Amino acid sequence: MNKLLQPNMYVKSVFDIDLLKLKDKGIDSIIVDIDNTLVSWNTKYATENVINWFKKVKNMGFKICIVSNATKTRVVKFNEEVKVLAIHRAIKPRKKAFLEAINKMDTQTFKTAMIGDQIFTDILGGNRVGLFTILVTPLSKKELILTKFIRKIEKIVLRDILEEGNR
Ligand SMILES: [Mg+2]
Repeated sequence: MNKLLQPNMYVKSVFDIDLLKLKDKGIDSIIVDIDNTLVSWNTKYATENVINWFKKVKNMGFKICIVSNATKTRVVKFNEEVKVLAIHRAIKPRKKAFLEAINKMDTQTFKTAMIGDQIFTDILGGNRVGLFTILVTPLSKKELILTKFIRKIEKIVLRDILEEGNR
């Protein structure tokens, strides 16, 4: 099992993440994906729940930066209400955007958590730069064929992770 594909934490949704626990681990910054992590891919704007989650995160003193592979239009529209640092067309799992986000937040890799729904972009990329990676269950079931294929592989990988964890 490749360690680079293993998340450090696995939760149902961003709302289930114990932010105090992250604080205890010395994490002061969060990188977050948009599509299927915060909203489904066809939701253009941040929802009330999501806006409140960002408020909570900021109130707790975390720095936060969106890192998305989506287009500028998509990211800017989503960020209209949220108003946080954001990087679009990130080309995750490439390291560049993750390092750029860490630089923007003026933090360090070991103090940063990565929250996302995809093993091959969010988790792999986050692990490559040494972040604390958190995998969430994807929000939307309606997906492109390629994404569906990736999901199938992810299910297999995830099953391996869970089995390993139980050993
Ligand atoms: Mg995503």
